[in-house]
Amino acid sequence: MPNYSSIIKQLQIEITTYCNAFCPGCGRNEQGAETISNLKLQHMDFDVWKKLINDDHFLEKISLITLNGMFGDPLMHPMIYEMIDQVPRDFIIEINTNGSMRNKVFWSRFAELLCEFEDHRLIWGIDGLQDTNHLHRRGTVWQNIIDNLTAFNQRGGISEWRMTVFEHNKHQILDCKKLSQDLGCSKFTTRESYEPYMEAKAYKDMPSQVYHRVTKQEIAKILDDFSTDRLNKPEPLEVHSCPWLSDKSIQISADGKVWPCCYTSEEPYHKNRFDHIWTFPNIPNDLKTYTLQQILESEFYTSYIDKIWLGKKSRICNECIYGNPEGED
Ligand code: SF4
Ligand code: SF4
Repeated sequence: MPNYSSIIKQLQIEITTYCNAFCPGCGRNEQGAETISNLKLQHMDFDVWKKLINDDHFLEKISLITLNGMFGDPLMHPMIYEMIDQVPRDFIIEINTNGSMRNKVFWSRFAELLCEFEDHRLIWGIDGLQDTNHLHRRGTVWQNIIDNLTAFNQRGGISEWRMTVFEHNKHQILDCKKLSQDLGCSKFTTRESYEPYMEAKAYKDMPSQVYHRVTKQEIAKILDDFSTDRLNKPEPLEVHSCPWLSDKSIQISADGKVWPCCYTSEEPYHKNRFDHIWTFPNIPNDLKTYTLQQILESEFYTSYIDKIWLGKKSRICNECIYGNPEGED
């Protein structure tokens, strides 16, 4: 039986569903074009954030806070600086971004703030060079990204350049790695696309585009460097277990709801999947009503979720745990 309230060490938080980009694999848009109709565009309420961050009882167990994005880029939240400034300085902060928003002045100040923490890492999703990054990170502006990244690094910020590799940018892996080092990034990582094949629709001034995955084995061959970090999907620590629970992690969505992982948090809005269990309206997981401790000690987290896994009642959990939606061994 999971014991969320005592084992969770990491919070992954989506603080906004806004983004300035149109990546075709992202759940927020229709094939790199218009925003999906059932997505609620919202920034996390500052009061919800303060309630979370000032919950001493729970936060003494947490060491890492990650701001990630299923539907939005954290840097789009108008109060991100103030939100991070609320966090106790003995935390480790990790933030993912496409890096194309805001300006050099902000990014310099932001680096100074992050340097006050125990540790921090800004993960820049940059998928190629000037002539290719915008093919996947549609709508982003290369020069803004490079100016922001440079300003952040020069002020002491710790950066990781994370490149999603496709057929159209694989010839630039080594050049991207070299540029990341020249610009002062402390890490360069690559990852394969989740989808083997994707298509983006023509939208605004962006043309249609197709994308072909490059496997991590091919990436390793190109790098000829097996010590370079490459990202894989998280593997469960034990056979047939929830990888997020093994990782001592939970997800909090922009509407202030607490979920066992990012996949389940997407379900109420996701354009392609519908797993009824995660859209059940009475899951007691709203931080506007309960504290994090109360949520994780509720029946849903202490026993119901275990029944979902054991009873193979969720197609997305079955895929995650057993490798197929039916949960066949
Ligand atoms: S930058 Fe992130 S949140 Fe924005 S569209 Fe791309 S994947 Fe989605
Ligand atoms: S989809 Fe289910 S099994 Fe997979 S990480 Fe989420 S809660 Fe765990």
